[in-house]
Amino acid sequence: MTQYDVAIIGSGPGGYVAAIRCAQLGMKTAIIEKYSTLGGTCLNVGCIPSKALLDSSHHYEDAVKHFSDHGIEIPGEIKVNLEKMIGRKQTVVDQTCAGVKFLMDKNKIEVYEGVGSFKDATHLNIAKNDGSTETIEAKNTIIATGSKPSSLPFINIDKKRVITSTEALKLKEIPKHLIVIGGGVIGLELGQVYKRLGADVTVVEFMDRIVPGMDGALSKELLKVLKKQKVKFNLSHKVKSVTTNGDEVVVVADDKKGQEVTFKGDYCLVSVGRRPYTDGLNLEAAGITMEKNGTIAVNDHLQTNVANVYAIGDVVRGAMLAHKAEEEGTMVAEILAGQKPHIDYNLIPGVVYTWPEVAAVGKTEEELKEAGIEYKTGQFPMRALGRARASMDIDGFVKILADKTTDEVLGVHMIGARVADLIAEAVTAMEFRASAEDISRMSHAHPTYAEAVKEAALAATADRALHI
Ligand SMILES: Cc1cc2nc3c(=O)[nH]c(=O)nc-3n(C[C@H](O)[C@H](O)[C@H](O)COP(=O)(O)OP(=O)(O)OC[C@H]3O[C@@H](n4cnc5c(N)ncnc54)[C@H](O)[C@@H]3O)c2cc1C
Repeated sequence: MTQYDVAIIGSGPGGYVAAIRCAQLGMKTAIIEKYSTLGGTCLNVGCIPSKALLDSSHHYEDAVKHFSDHGIEIPGEIKVNLEKMIGRKQTVVDQTCAGVKFLMDKNKIEVYEGVGSFKDATHLNIAKNDGSTETIEAKNTIIATGSKPSSLPFINIDKKRVITSTEALKLKEIPKHLIVIGGGVIGLELGQVYKRLGADVTVVEFMDRIVPGMDGALSKELLKVLKKQKVKFNLSHKVKSVTTNGDEVVVVADDKKGQEVTFKGDYCLVSVGRRPYTDGLNLEAAGITMEKNGTIAVNDHLQTNVANVYAIGDVVRGAMLAHKAEEEGTMVAEILAGQKPHIDYNLIPGVVYTWPEVAAVGKTEEELKEAGIEYKTGQFPMRALGRARASMDIDGFVKILADKTTDEVLGVHMIGARVADLIAEAVTAMEFRASAEDISRMSHAHPTYAEAVKEAALAATADRALHI
């Protein structure tokens, strides 16, 4: 029986990063993945393919709607070749997954293709995809089995007309009318893809706001901009049935007054969140306990109740984000090597890759109010930037929340062009516990979108933004 210092179940961003870090630290490492491609949700059916389609559809929208503003004229009709667009996305996915396989080989990590499950706390059974089975011994195991789309109990996801994000990434036709249940990140990103390609898109959301959990000002601004892009929103609507009739999908909901509303479309994307995935792991055999919400119970060191078993990523508490899973993978590897790593969960940024993009780190205004922390606000609109006017991306703003007494930056909330990249400055500043004045005194290249960060910091420091 082959023995390992560490075996990792699941090859998503949590699992494969943990594997690389374990190998770097000199551990004999194995990774078990049930699919034939490595990379998990993120690379196969999540972050990467969704961004590939967001980019392609953005180019199309620019060509149709914005090129002429720049004096670029395209004779004839501009058409979408959806098959080619989806094909390009798949090429990007294939290349990225192959990159993970390359990294496994480079770091001499043994890859097992099959379903991993616990025989006991130090032995794992692998039901291999070629039909054979193998048992390996692992001093330590890291569970990184991720998550799956969740649904509502009364919805039958037929994967044809009533779909999850996975099917939405490989549709064979552009929907005429896509009904999106759930106004969170995934629903809005994929909704925007198909809106740009010509679909009517209707979002039905239970809460009274979109992207719940983000700062209220971001929700409001994103709603305003997406409405301008003709996405329809029905907030405070409780969906109570989804049925299909041939090519038609009928969604029935109660609005906030309790009145029944019916939506008819040809596709319905159910994007009501994701659930931790532990099916088939046989956790009981190792005596591993779970939380009521289906996550694996872990302590601050991501250790389960069984001392040599750890769990990371979407399958444990916290934000379901690829970069959070990666940090946790690194952390567990370093703990196993006897180091003392630390993750500041407050400083894990959240991003929505719609256009304009939305990005945030630290506390929201709502959280600061609830905690009774006195704060000051500095906000700067993108439209006041020369860079934004040059590119005609004038929607959005940067908002900085700083402690009223110490001026320490407590939260940064952005909406606008390229803010998914811009948020890294805020994370860096907050990691070093910068004050708003610190940011305001740093030189920011001109003309850039980043100048909005400096201006918002000036506004927060002493209400002295320069360009407004
Ligand atoms: C459409 C979409 C877009 C997204 N966009 C973003 C984004 O832009 N940014 C971001 O940060 N996050 C994004 N996410 C979320 C991100 O994909 C997840 O947070 C991330 O993949 C979690 O990583 P993980 O390693 O915990 O698990 P996963 O990536 O889910 O990987 C788990 C792996 O474990 C395997 N597995 C499960 N059980 C077993 C078993 N018993 N044996 C062997 N293998 C097993 C699975 O097959 C899978 O490959 C997106 C998600 C979706 C669906």
